[in-house]
Amino acid sequence: MIISIASGKGGTGKTTVATNLALSIKNAQILDCDVEEPNAHIFIKPKIQEKIFVFIPVPQIDKTKCNYCGKCKQVCMYNAIAILNKTTLVFAELCHGCGSCTYFCPQKAIKEVDKEIGFTEIGYGSTSFITDLQFVHGKLNIGQAMAPPLIRAVKKHISSTRVNIIDAPPGTSCPVIESIKESDFCILVTEPTPFGLNDLILAIEVLRKLKIPFGVIINRSDLGDNKTDEYCQNQNIPILMRIPFKKEIASAYSQGVPIVEVLPKYREHFKELFRRISNGEFN
Ligand code: SF4
Ligand code: SF4
Repeated sequence: MIISIASGKGGTGKTTVATNLALSIKNAQILDCDVEEPNAHIFIKPKIQEKIFVFIPVPQIDKTKCNYCGKCKQVCMYNAIAILNKTTLVFAELCHGCGSCTYFCPQKAIKEVDKEIGFTEIGYGSTSFITDLQFVHGKLNIGQAMAPPLIRAVKKHISSTRVNIIDAPPGTSCPVIESIKESDFCILVTEPTPFGLNDLILAIEVLRKLKIPFGVIINRSDLGDNKTDEYCQNQNIPILMRIPFKKEIASAYSQGVPIVEVLPKYREHFKELFRRISNGEFN
């Protein structure tokens, strides 16, 4: 099973929900796909066993064969190739490694070379109360813009025998879609503020298009207004849990301590949430 945790907006508590859910259930694996800023490891404190560097193939032009026909520029969807004054230029930072230019070059003037974009790390979380949590995350190199290939490298570790909890990046762009597609269920984490609601609505549109069942967790639920509640009721969207603003939670978060360690009753709340999701109660 794959459960992804997403939010239209950053800073709503997405990683808090992902890590606490993963720490509350048996036989789980957390995959941190927020590769530009992974932070699930802060709460899971995994023992890393393996590090794998991730590369994408970028084109290299053989000047002796290229006749500047422009076909490669024409097929590149990402504007990563330009032809100027009888020179074919490749902007490797924009290249998605799709291979189209190599395939369509009539002169066979392109060869592909590997470019490192980041790495994945694989390990396991070990706490006093759960010892079988598998952990995977990806870390994009600084200045690198190509998150989706690294997200795919993280998702290669999805296990068919475990409950896979995906911590998706914030927002609604390509990296989010790459992270959440194929999920059996998505938990959207929001906060009851006008910005939170605005971005929640955008995330809901994405999930409806992808046809992924979803529900909402309202974090810091006793702050802000009740417009998120009203919206969910009007749209028939299940509110899965409310996490109030509490000093113990904020203080634990700031020290990298999961909620379930300081307030153990939340382990039962997350267990019950998982039971209901896996029973298909919100589909
Ligand atoms: S398609 Fe091939 S031959 Fe044409 S400009 Fe590109 S690299 Fe050169
Ligand atoms: S591999 Fe794809 S993205 Fe990269 S330059 Fe070629 S066509 Fe563009």
